[in-house]
Amino acid sequence: MKIFKSINKLNKQVNFKANIGFVPTMGALHKGHMSLIDSSKKKCNKTLVTIFVNPSQFNKKSDYIKYPKILSNDLKILRKKKVDYVFIPQINEIYKNKKNMKISINSKDKIMCAKFRKGHFEGVLAVINQLLGIIRAKYMFLGIKDYQQLYLIRKFIKNKFDTKIIACKTIRDKNHLAYSSRNLLLSKNDLIKASKVIKKIKFIYNKIKKNINNSKEINDIKNQISNSGIKIEYLQIRNKYNLSKKYNKYNFKIFIAFYINKVRLIDNF
Ligand code: AMP
Repeated sequence: MKIFKSINKLNKQVNFKANIGFVPTMGALHKGHMSLIDSSKKKCNKTLVTIFVNPSQFNKKSDYIKYPKILSNDLKILRKKKVDYVFIPQINEIYKNKKNMKISINSKDKIMCAKFRKGHFEGVLAVINQLLGIIRAKYMFLGIKDYQQLYLIRKFIKNKFDTKIIACKTIRDKNHLAYSSRNLLLSKNDLIKASKVIKKIKFIYNKIKKNINNSKEINDIKNQISNSGIKIEYLQIRNKYNLSKKYNKYNFKIFIAFYINKVRLIDNF
């Protein structure tokens, strides 16, 4: 496994004409990340993982500071996985080219996480823009867990880069809670609370699948979650193809963002 910390070395030593699979991450690796790496290893000759906790996508500095950073453990995991290349960019290098860092998103897209975490996706897209300029990978592997991110990156790179996106399914623990680096910030008890919320969301999902008009039941469940002391930032049902509110039981997706002990979790079904 080759580890790169500078763009120069990466450019010199990696043959980007080869069939390369790119897995962008913010580290604190878990089974969700592993599944992206497995998909890349299956489809591509070489797999390149980046670890970069991007400051500009955190709308609160305290959230950036708190975000789990366990690089030596991550490298151990990646070595075991037999990943070919790891790129750990330096913040200065990524932010050197200021012009590429100014990305704006459509007002139509300022919904859900884009609405509640102002500047978040602008930060995500700016880094993806920089990284894809360097890593001219054939495929990029992204998780459905971060559906709005997947949607916006797909839209953003469409006519800009040749890289194809492969969307990978959400990996969950035995209690149906999606693996997330932020889960490291939660106690055992918090994790149980979070998985209870997720079970309720899955329940709503199944209800809507059977009968689209059950807003009373949905509201009841929303109230149940809020009454148990959990702050829901948003719980929305949208069309999975264009994220509009025009959906039917064949094309809907349900999205939630909620807080457990000040830790923000997101998920979708
Ligand atoms: P992150 O390190 O949180 O920025 O995530 C890096 C990539 O892993 C993103 O494409 C995420 O959507 C994906 N990912 C995060 N959690 C999961 C999960 N539980 N299952 C599958 N993919 C995930």
